[in-house]
Order: sequence, then structure tokens, then C-alpha cells
Amino acid sequence: MSEPRKSGVEDRLYANEIRPDKVSHIEITDGERCLECVAKPCTTACPAGTYTLDSAGERIIINFDNCLECGACRSVCPFSVIEWKNPMGGMGICYRYG
Ligand code: SF4
Ligand code: SF4
Repeated sequence: MSEPRKSGVEDRLYANEIRPDKVSHIEITDGERCLECVAKPCTTACPAGTYTLDSAGERIIINFDNCLECGACRSVCPFSVIEWKNPMGGMGICYRYG
């Protein structure tokens, strides 16, 4: 049986390589704001699914090693509580333009 065909975007994402760091380069500086944040746009704006909700559907879990380093999460957070730094040298996403 053949593999299901991936979209063009998925093909390009699969061409990249992510070298996960040991420590997160992303931090939520005030998790209480997430409780007030009704729309939780970080969970939908991130193309890599880095932000997910805990089992209670309130707190944010950060899967930092998925990060594509696009910067969208910082733009959409209405409380500006996402602190994002570049991963350590040599770590993080390595884009392949193929
Ligand atoms: S967008 Fe910001 S405030 Fe809202 S849930 Fe995400 S990190 Fe928390
Ligand atoms: S920088 Fe982009 S890929 Fe990384 S966590 Fe933010 S939105 Fe997701």
C-alpha cells in the first residue's frame, strides 16, 4: 500500500532537521495570564504545535523541540508573556531549501 501523499508544506517541513537542545529556549513568564487568556492563540498560531493545553485545558505545555523559530507565538500572545530566545549555537532548526 502506498503512503498517503503529503501536502507541499509538509514535504518542505520534513526536509528540515531539528537538533533538540537540552533546555527550553521558550518560557512563559507568567502562567497566570494563560488562565485569563480565553482564545489561547499560541495553540493555534504555532505551525509546529509547540503549545498544547494540559489535561484540564487551562495551562500551556511547551514542546520546545518542535520549534521552527518563526516568531509567530510572540506576536499573537495578548499578554506578551512568551519569552523566546535563540536556541544554543548549533541547536534548533536547520532549514533545507529543497
Ligand atoms: S497566548 Fe500567551 S497568554 Fe495566551 S495562553 Fe498562550 S502564552 Fe498564555
Ligand atoms: S517561534 Fe514559531 S514555531 Fe517556534 S514556538 Fe513560536 S510560533 Fe511555534
